[in-house]
Amino acid sequence: MQPSDLGRDLEKVLIDEDAITAKVAELAAAIDRDYADRPVLLVGVLKGAVMIMADLARAMSLPVEMDWMAVSSYGSGTKSSGVVRILKDLDKDITGKHVLVVEDILDTGLTLSWLVRNLRSRGPASVQVCTFLRKPEAVKVDVPVAYLGFDIPNEFVVGYGLDYAERYRNLRVVGTLAPHVYGG
Ligand code: 5GP
Repeated sequence: MQPSDLGRDLEKVLIDEDAITAKVAELAAAIDRDYADRPVLLVGVLKGAVMIMADLARAMSLPVEMDWMAVSSYGSGTKSSGVVRILKDLDKDITGKHVLVVEDILDTGLTLSWLVRNLRSRGPASVQVCTFLRKPEAVKVDVPVAYLGFDIPNEFVVGYGLDYAERYRNLRVVGTLAPHVYGG
């Protein structure tokens, strides 16, 4: 989906396709550099991280393994529930592996800090975090981010994997929705 496909539903574009592509290349180069001497397992957090996982992995030169987790943190609304539940666990054991968690967005940080603790308890060689977006609230919690795409304002965003009520994930840019979409 292009921004124009949303018509009046799109309020504004925060990050366009060119900016996304350039940033993904930058992140991939940094990860290639850091993991040159050890195999990396990318752990994507469903469903939001699907786009960044696919683009990041393809932009990298190193071979990677990929696995996925699904955790619940948001309902169909726009507020964090604070409750984290594993909906889908990793397929494989991560003992002794170098894990890089790939996230779409760090908001309150509740989800990711819980996830990192959970993964660390499984005996991996290392756990690092790559998040494509980060909101200001996230700095309040202790989530060490090794690779960051963009810091964004405290607004609800959609696109590039991020949804509102399961829609707009396939929008090629990151943007905000007009109030009428939320019934406002
Ligand atoms: P946190 O636990 O850091 O507050 O929230 C993390 C999760 O909330 C993200 O993985 C994402 O699913 C969802 N989330 C947080 N902020 C936004 C946003 O602005 N837009 C969308 N679509 N989802 C968000």
